[in-house]
Amino acid sequence: MKITDPVCGKKLDIDQVAETMEHDNWLYFFCSVECRRRFKAQPNRYVSNIPKPKSSSTHNERAKRKDHA
Ligand SMILES: [Zn+2]
Repeated sequence: MKITDPVCGKKLDIDQVAETMEHDNWLYFFCSVECRRRFKAQPNRYVSNIPKPKSSSTHNERAKRKDHA
């Protein structure tokens, strides 16, 4: 199972996860302290990088937006 680091976008194995942080009832995983620090400073900038099963209805919206970016 791969986990995506929302800040740098790296795909991590569970044993590569250096830091975790709970935000908005969701647990985020980071490859480094630096990524966690950036996420903590601006969580809203990064949360949309992680596909959440809970909000699958907005997934297509998000994908479209990413295409245009
Ligand atoms: Zn990272």
